[in-house]
Amino acid sequence: MNIHEYQAKALLASYGAPVSDGRAVLKAEDAKTAASELDGPIWVVKAQIHAGGRGKGHFQEAGAGEAGGVRLTKSVGEAADEAKKMLGRTLVTHQTGPAGKQVNRVYIEDGAAIESEFYLALLVDRQTSRIGFVVSTEGGMDIEEVAANTPEKIVNFTVDPATGYQAFHGRRVAFTLGLTGQQVKQCINLMGLLYKAFTEKDMEMLEINPLIVTKAGDLKVLDAKVSFDGNAIYRHPDIASLRDETEEDPKELAASKFDLNYIALDGEIGCMVNGAGLAMATMDIIKLYGAEPANFLDVGGGATKEKVTEAFKIITSDPQVKGILVNIFGGIMRCDVIAEGVVSAVKEVGLKVPLVVRLEGTNVDEGKAIINNSGLDVIAADDLKDGAEKIVKAVKG
Ligand code: GDP
Ligand code: MN
Repeated sequence: MNIHEYQAKALLASYGAPVSDGRAVLKAEDAKTAASELDGPIWVVKAQIHAGGRGKGHFQEAGAGEAGGVRLTKSVGEAADEAKKMLGRTLVTHQTGPAGKQVNRVYIEDGAAIESEFYLALLVDRQTSRIGFVVSTEGGMDIEEVAANTPEKIVNFTVDPATGYQAFHGRRVAFTLGLTGQQVKQCINLMGLLYKAFTEKDMEMLEINPLIVTKAGDLKVLDAKVSFDGNAIYRHPDIASLRDETEEDPKELAASKFDLNYIALDGEIGCMVNGAGLAMATMDIIKLYGAEPANFLDVGGGATKEKVTEAFKIITSDPQVKGILVNIFGGIMRCDVIAEGVVSAVKEVGLKVPLVVRLEGTNVDEGKAIINNSGLDVIAADDLKDGAEKIVKAVKG
């Protein structure tokens, strides 16, 4: 689960991280009051979307020379004007894709005077099963670009969970960034509290780009991107309440309400499968036969007819879907329940694309009978290979 920059900053500030004062604004008429509560002399207006690269992004139908999603202004009035200009418009960045994201909130922040910008991230390093630090002097830039062109400028290390965070970790960050004097102490302290926040809140990633040294010589968190482990959200009602559903893929959102493991993808073949392993195998074999999956969907072990109906509706609601492959190996999941769900969903929403169904396992004969007696135009498949071949052929001709 992702949260907005202003929410991430408030969370990190509650652990003691240095951030600028700021106000989130949802309605244009509140922008002036919000800006007037900040000191200046610079007011920064920042689009709040769950995507990075806002500064270098552009608004759809932008005027000539119009700035992107991060704007530096010199007065309360100017800040309020820029906030009004951004709200409700669509911002396109290299992370949003060409469709962009609608800006429903802006954050007005007391501008910082920047001496230098750095890159810092904490993440779960799956290779070592530890929390890792990624540090670079090349802040405020595309870290992917730095990694590709000048990988030597990125320093990585992980923290042994048995000892946890130690001051030497912070010194290593400080040394990498070339910090001196008071900044080294600030860095040791800041890295420690970030590590604490990361572990306590079950974060998946915490990216600060840029971490800055101000003209006054102090470290400050100028941008913050945080994502949390979705499987741990139930432990953190405070984090769950920060969820902004308008930022999520509507199909993924609907799926989460029915406890379906669904991830939208770019391809043309909708998949309904039980079990994550079989779902991945199904995606692989679709690719093998020359097509692309439109989604990953694991309906789970004990899915009900209602859940299956909902899953089917989510798949058919995707205009990119040109064909559907239902691939069920019934163990705990019964084939007749799947069949009932599919039939009931088709009755409700109709079927405009080819549908291939492969059922195997518990109650397979009952399942096949339900499909056959439904009068639906279904292509039956005997096994996974047969199913994949048939759906790809049906879609690609
Ligand atoms: P992003 O483009 O989505 O990563 O948004 P950031 O919050 O990282 O802002 C992009 C850039 O805007 C930063 O790298 C800074 O150079 C600049 N910026 C953001 N906030 C301030 C500020 O308070 N003062 C100044 N001088 N520049 C800022
Ligand atoms: Mn940034």
